Amino acid sequence: MTWNRWLADAAATREEAGLTRRLRPRGPDDAASRSPSVDLAGNDYLGLSGHPDVRRAAADAAMLWGGGAGASRLVTGTLTLHQELEAELADWLGQPAALTFSTGYHANLSVVGALADRTAHVVSDAHIHASLIDAVRLSRAQLTVVPHNDVAAVRAALAARPGVRTLVLAESVYSVLGDEAPLVELADACAKHGALLVVDEAHGVGVHGPGLVHRHGLAGRPDVLVTATLSKSLGSQGGAVLGPQAVLDHLVNTARPFIFDTGLAPAATAAALAAARVARSRPDLAETIRARVTDLARTLGIHAPAGAVLSVPMPSPDAAITAQADLLAEGVRVGCFRPPSVPDGVSRLRVTAGAGVTDEEWERAVKAIDVIVGEAG
Ligand code: PMP
Repeated sequence: MTWNRWLADAAATREEAGLTRRLRPRGPDDAASRSPSVDLAGNDYLGLSGHPDVRRAAADAAMLWGGGAGASRLVTGTLTLHQELEAELADWLGQPAALTFSTGYHANLSVVGALADRTAHVVSDAHIHASLIDAVRLSRAQLTVVPHNDVAAVRAALAARPGVRTLVLAESVYSVLGDEAPLVELADACAKHGALLVVDEAHGVGVHGPGLVHRHGLAGRPDVLVTATLSKSLGSQGGAVLGPQAVLDHLVNTARPFIFDTGLAPAATAAALAAARVARSRPDLAETIRARVTDLARTLGIHAPAGAVLSVPMPSPDAAITAQADLLAEGVRVGCFRPPSVPDGVSRLRVTAGAGVTDEEWERAVKAIDVIVGEAG
């Protein structure tokens, strides 16, 4: 089969299943004013991407340092600015140390890739993010996938391979389902069996202040590692791993997505640093998210998620796309989860109850969502 034929067949299959994805560029006006639509589609949970301190820090850093870090971290691409951000993140999240990466995806690839190999065992929740799934594949570790949030299954998987170096993977707040991992129970199970717990806090940090690992008193434990993104609540770009210095030293020396990648760009680094400082000084932003997500869930009669994103199950991918378009026509921009981005095949509208829109915009959006979801259901 020729490449052209293969590509055309794949495109036709996607189209038939209603699963074609298209890029929809937005202009800078949208980014600046969030208009004409109310933007409930993004991950800028605290609304910090456009915060004046964050914009200014990014612009100043670009003027001072230039457009890029200029090299990989182990060559000349480690900036004092990176160190400053790493110290701020470690302090905020209550961890001994932090290491930044150019994306959260790289952070996850690095942790699993550097700590697990063919001789290791990885116990992964069934709803884990794609970046962790890819990380396990690259590591070639032995894998046990356990049902979502099933601590008994994790315990059984750990007990089945005594003495094998094991990582347990969880998200503090799951991106699609929006529920919280039983972190304390997972950490206890790991401690009992000598395993390392890796918690992806992509949707926890910021929305829950310093994150749920911190909230549950697990920050700083030598057997609990945290990965995070700088691209959601921190409104920038990049990722981080937080935990014991010995683990981070190991990543610096062995993690291929760290070693063979250019350091985080100065503007992104400075933006994340400024955003972390704003987030720390403005706990009211996280409170706004909690109030909004609870409000919307109550209106729609569904369970409130632990994070900032409400997933609204839809009868089909087409119904989700139609509802999304209808909402856009009403001036409300929401996201859409469709296969293959959902672990259980259920399409959903993805509504971010972020702090970045005004109360008036939020109320208007809730009314429109209520009507259109009601019509679709
Ligand atoms: N982990 C989770 C749970 C995520 O939702 C995401 C982003 N969708 C990532 C990791 C990757 O983060 P980044 O966008 O910084 O690569």
